Amino acid sequence: MNLSLYGLGERGTGEKGPEDEWIAVDCGMMIRQDLPDSPLQVPNLDTLSTLGIRPRALIITHGHEDHIGAAAWLWPKWGCPIHATPLAAGLLRAKFIERGLATDAIRVIEPGEALECGAFTLRYLPLTHSIPESCALLLAAGEHRVLHTGDWKLDPEPLIGKPMSSTTFRALAPVDLVVGDSTNAPMPGHSRSEGEVARALEHTIARCEGRVVVSCFASNLARVLAIGHAAQRNGRRVSLMGRSMERMVAVARGLGYLDDFPPLVPVSDLGYLPPNEVLVIATGSQGEPRAALSRLARGRHHAMELGAGDSVIFSAKAIPGNELLIERLKSGLKRLGVTLLDEFSHPELHASGHPAQEELRTFYGWVKPRHLLPVHGEPRHQQAHRELAETLGIQAPLIPLNGDLIRLDAEGLSLVSRHPQPPCIVSQNAVAPLPGLAGPNQGPRHGSLYLALSVTATGEGGWTRIGRLMLDASQASPIDEEAFTDWLDETLETLAGDTLAELRLALQPRLMGWFADHLRRLPEIHLQILAVEAPSASELG
Ligand SMILES: [Zn+2]
Ligand SMILES: [Zn+2]
Repeated sequence: MNLSLYGLGERGTGEKGPEDEWIAVDCGMMIRQDLPDSPLQVPNLDTLSTLGIRPRALIITHGHEDHIGAAAWLWPKWGCPIHATPLAAGLLRAKFIERGLATDAIRVIEPGEALECGAFTLRYLPLTHSIPESCALLLAAGEHRVLHTGDWKLDPEPLIGKPMSSTTFRALAPVDLVVGDSTNAPMPGHSRSEGEVARALEHTIARCEGRVVVSCFASNLARVLAIGHAAQRNGRRVSLMGRSMERMVAVARGLGYLDDFPPLVPVSDLGYLPPNEVLVIATGSQGEPRAALSRLARGRHHAMELGAGDSVIFSAKAIPGNELLIERLKSGLKRLGVTLLDEFSHPELHASGHPAQEELRTFYGWVKPRHLLPVHGEPRHQQAHRELAETLGIQAPLIPLNGDLIRLDAEGLSLVSRHPQPPCIVSQNAVAPLPGLAGPNQGPRHGSLYLALSVTATGEGGWTRIGRLMLDASQASPIDEEAFTDWLDETLETLAGDTLAELRLALQPRLMGWFADHLRRLPEIHLQILAVEAPSASELG
């Protein structure tokens, strides 16, 4: 969930800076899998109000939900211009229209172009990622130049758009600060190219005999295009399943991205084709129960039945927290006799959109940052990113948390103030603060306590805690963290739950009981349970 604000002025020295010297970069959402009905969580704007910050523009780096998904909910508070590349602008417009908002604030900027925004000069620098038109932003203000990378990878063969231009980025060196993508910083090596995945898909599909269903993320247009071409070369007709897939393909076609995509066959016509001429591109790789793929696995799809001889290819990775839903989907497919190809049996059929260590080194060799702020990742990803930067002689003194106000000046980076961010969710078509946990007594609460718990699915259908416990009790009465952690780990072992929401439901009352017993005064308690990937052996080593 991304929302960054950049300001120029004396903020942090006690003087109030001019209100209009701020810009916002991205405005994303996350899905709270640990809450009933998995609502959207969006950034809390209270801190900005308290600090008197009102951005004069919203700058979008790319069209992924964790970068644009909250804009239709939060932008009305600002009413400022929104700048985005054509695809992201198209996706945003669709969201605004859905919410009944006017779309004239959304302005299209082409990758490579620049714009002036108050004290800032911004350049959109094209990158490669897993959605077209992703851009880094070079922000120049006063004597500082900051490179906000957004999400990226170094893809020599992105299929849509050009590879990253080393010349463009070398010309920026040295930049004062990189605010950069940490997602894959613990991973050695280099991410796979979309070109490689396309060839692997073509070979794999060539060996399939019956019907083929390929599931991938709708926003990865290069992948969708590659699957379409692989189908065509193997004499198969293409059909789409899934609303988000249809919407994405429609927006992309409008922008001329899929001009050489094979003509589509309506789903209702699939029954007339021989099995070896069928290829379906479907959403639902995360086991979403209502998606077409899950209906196919249950034998409940109105237009197609899968059986022995047919194949389902997962050209996507499991998002942590979805493991059990995906397992259910896969066992349904196996029961039908369908052949499964996934990230475990065929890692060549998917590529990550984020940079591994070799890519980070290459890129930092180009732009030569003096300082790094590692963002976009969990603390262990940020920590790995920071360590890598330090081996390159880049100063990376901070691991920022949401709500940190950070200053860059001649002395480097420093933390000015830390503002805890009480979660806000979208509920009944409005943004509302998520209340703290209900406790044994409903008396007045004293201070707030934030607990973020990272868990990973165990093979036995349970959950185990990993990584550092994120406990911010600075506004509550003191707590013995060691005793709490020991108790928590023991308790987690005894709890079952197929989903994060079930785990949360089981944990909540026990948690409140512990706090009621151990704290002098009960604070408002906010719990977030996050599913994360278990660190691989190479990361731990
Ligand atoms: Zn992202
Ligand atoms: Zn992204």
